[in-house]
Amino acid sequence: MNSERLKENVSVTIRFRPLSPREIRQGEEIAWYANGETIVRNENTPSIAFAYDQVFGPTITTRHVYDIAAQHVVSGAMEGINGTIFAYGVTSSGKTHTMHGNQRSPGIIPLAIKDAFCIIQETPSREFLLRLSYLEIYNEVVNDLLNPAGHHLRIREDNQGTFVEGVKQEVVLSPAHALSIIAAGEEQRHVASTKLNLHSSRSHTIFTLTIESSPCGENIEGEAVNLSQLNLIDLAGSESSKAETTGIRRKEGAYINKSLLTLGTVISKLSDGRAAHIPYRDSKLTRLLQSSLSGHGRVSLICTVTPSSSNSEETHNTLKFAHHAKHIEIQAAQNKINDEKSLIKTYQNQIRSLKEELHQLEHEGEAKDALLSQIQSLTRLILVSTKSPHQTDPGSRYSFMEEELAYLPKRGRNLSLDHENIQLHVTLNEGSHIKDDKKIKKPQKRDGLTLTSGSDKSSGGMSTTSNPTPTPPANTHTLAIVESRRLSYSSPSESTSEPLQHVEVLTYSEAIQEQLNEKNNECKGLEETITALKQLLSENTTIKAQAVEIEQLKEKVAKITESKEQLEIENKRLREESAYANELASAAANELKMMSEQVVKLMNQGVV
Ligand code: ADP
Ligand code: MG
Repeated sequence: MNSERLKENVSVTIRFRPLSPREIRQGEEIAWYANGETIVRNENTPSIAFAYDQVFGPTITTRHVYDIAAQHVVSGAMEGINGTIFAYGVTSSGKTHTMHGNQRSPGIIPLAIKDAFCIIQETPSREFLLRLSYLEIYNEVVNDLLNPAGHHLRIREDNQGTFVEGVKQEVVLSPAHALSIIAAGEEQRHVASTKLNLHSSRSHTIFTLTIESSPCGENIEGEAVNLSQLNLIDLAGSESSKAETTGIRRKEGAYINKSLLTLGTVISKLSDGRAAHIPYRDSKLTRLLQSSLSGHGRVSLICTVTPSSSNSEETHNTLKFAHHAKHIEIQAAQNKINDEKSLIKTYQNQIRSLKEELHQLEHEGEAKDALLSQIQSLTRLILVSTKSPHQTDPGSRYSFMEEELAYLPKRGRNLSLDHENIQLHVTLNEGSHIKDDKKIKKPQKRDGLTLTSGSDKSSGGMSTTSNPTPTPPANTHTLAIVESRRLSYSSPSESTSEPLQHVEVLTYSEAIQEQLNEKNNECKGLEETITALKQLLSENTTIKAQAVEIEQLKEKVAKITESKEQLEIENKRLREESAYANELASAAANELKMMSEQVVKLMNQGVV
């Protein structure tokens, strides 16, 4: 199974990001710095220093990081050696910037994709089949970012190693195709999470390119197939979760710790070299990476750090973790597998038998056309250099060239994307009648971007569901070709008698168009938010006015209550006075009565 073992170590590099504008505003200072190309030193205690394979200062481009820390892993993967590249570090230290990047500074993932296709172009002796999957581990749950229904996926094991059951794998036809698949996966992640920042700092994303290759040519039956996986991983933030207090947060933190802690344990046991038991099974992340980490694949650990003094302690932790990992020894070996188990052989065999069937059909007709289009669809999935001497049907191959991702920087060249850099790639197959370039549809300008229109939008990417040992479908005639994500695809040659003749025009504009759509959607979303906020604000104003009124009314009520009380007191006093007056009056009346009685008496006695 394995051959050509070479002892090597895990590549461990440190990447500093610049101080952020906020850190500068807050007057933070440099606590750690790159001292030359291999040392990280502490500013306050210069005796504290760590050595690595390479230390990238804050001004180093991702292109350079790629060349030093990723290129050998990618080229190894193209030769059948499993490869894994991790970005490790606290939140906001630059992991996503390093792995994904942006238009101005493309990350390791787009650079690796471009490199993979360049390697295919430079390897005319072999043909390749590339598939990609994109997963996320959140709270120890594995989700498929290429399939909204793919939640809680299980990790299984067979004699080929561990694999994710039911994961969607898309066959990749070109660099731009791969990038558009990733963009769709990112979109899916945005849709699925309500608090993206929190979510993304706590989840691990695993981008996997599965590469199969076999020698080109007619007599390749019995030749082994190289099979390998290239994992590009943006890990969850490595900050300690001690500060977490609320229930949910603690749970998430604990899970992240579980995957990251287990990764730490696995790495330290691997670096020991003598440890008998390595706890891959203790977390989803390590279980998934078991075959890649178990010593026969190449591993590159890129640790991202901020120089900032406010993060000094966390940076120190990252540096210690990286230091540990440095001791892991690996023996990179090619993975060769049996013919029948590989997808590329499956397709090659199907193509061969379809061609045989075709030769047996004597007359032109619908059956022949159907066969031809099936052959064409299958052939397109297998990637081969345009330089290949064995390329029998060049026109039927899906064409990809370096130009397709010309916007990605090459060594020592930093390009940014502009209209000039969007290039077309045109392949004419041999014997094509289209000699006149003018017959090729001219790209149309739309929204300032170059787009080509096309009649054929149905054939393109093919997706499969994970099966590490793919078996041929029972009926080779019913392979499902999923709808292409490509926006631009043109096939000006309409000739049905020669269906293999076609011109493919592919531009990078599809990915750009998608991004544009994304931005438009974002814009719409923002507009909606603004409207909602405005409404809230106006509601708020009314509420405020009402509140003021209520206050005034309350004051009035208070005043009224006060005067009412005073009135009541007055009333009471008056009542008391009147009662007293009544008493006085009745007393006076009594006295009067008595006096008048006495007067009557005296008169009667004749005194008066
Ligand atoms: P993480 O994924 O580790 O949480 P990010 O990659 O999102 O961190 O980086 C945080 C911020 O710092 C982003 O705005 C990013 O653009 C910026 N940044 C990170 N690394 C670099 C770098 N090497 N050069 C310039 N800016 C960087
Ligand atoms: Mg991130």
